Amino acid sequence: MVTWTRRQLYQRIRQRLTAANLEDAAAESGFLLEFLLGKPLPQLLMDGDLPVSEPIVQQAEQLCEKRANRYPLQYLLGTWEFYGLPLQVGEGVLIPRADTETLVEFVLSCRQNAAQTKLLDLCSGSGCIPAAIAAHLPQVTGAAVEREPAAFCYLKQNLQQHAPSIQPIQGDVLDAVFAKDFSSYDVITCNPPYLTEMDMQVLQPEVAFEPETALYGGTDGLDFYRMVTAYWKDALTADGWLVYEIGMGQEQDVAEILRQNGFSEMVQRTDAGGIVRLVAGRRRVAADSPPTVTL
Ligand code: GLN
Repeated sequence: MVTWTRRQLYQRIRQRLTAANLEDAAAESGFLLEFLLGKPLPQLLMDGDLPVSEPIVQQAEQLCEKRANRYPLQYLLGTWEFYGLPLQVGEGVLIPRADTETLVEFVLSCRQNAAQTKLLDLCSGSGCIPAAIAAHLPQVTGAAVEREPAAFCYLKQNLQQHAPSIQPIQGDVLDAVFAKDFSSYDVITCNPPYLTEMDMQVLQPEVAFEPETALYGGTDGLDFYRMVTAYWKDALTADGWLVYEIGMGQEQDVAEILRQNGFSEMVQRTDAGGIVRLVAGRRRVAADSPPTVTL
């Protein structure tokens, strides 16, 4: 039986991931070694001559095999960092992307001086948005809605760990009757499925392992913006914000949907790659507007 050292195992993982043409083979190898041996990489390699047990070597082979077939690294690790928080992830839930941090930063900037914030996150998935907001905004309360059972399990765990003041609720955001039970939120955030029919045909191999229900937004990718805006706008306070993540190039269409639903003060924000990733609107109900008279 050959005994492997930590360093040899690290090199073996790097070799396999490089041979599989993974762009970030070096960084990914580090993540996998940390996962397998349960310690930070620098510490592991400082004692690089220490032996590694046979079951770990076998597990490493299996992980490399899966990763070479483009199974997402984040699902293999079972945790992924979002806005500095380690979140639980796995099959059935969308992997949190750095792009989504754009929404977190916007909400934090809007609400940092507010005494209290009541937040509602729709299509919540892993709960990355409310978890990150709650970790940085004191006095936040609210709810996060997710329909899919597998994703809902991750949502519950992540909120319990990072944002116990946000209640996970299982439900369908496209159910107008369900939406009527919600009211007086200062902020609604939503990263809905927004990929178009064409986008779905050219998914990156890794993304194809993620749930279609979290990706596909109808033929033009805009189905959720149309319905969520119409069904949930009354769940906001008089000057509350509806904050959407959007796909590349969707800013004008989404702003128009918001406008048609009575929103104004439209805001856009770009992600780190310079792509407009956020469209938000405010539905100000002027205090002195004449009451609607029904004859
Ligand atoms: N940002 C995801 C992607 O590019 C899509 C997620 C979504 O539709 N909200 O794969």
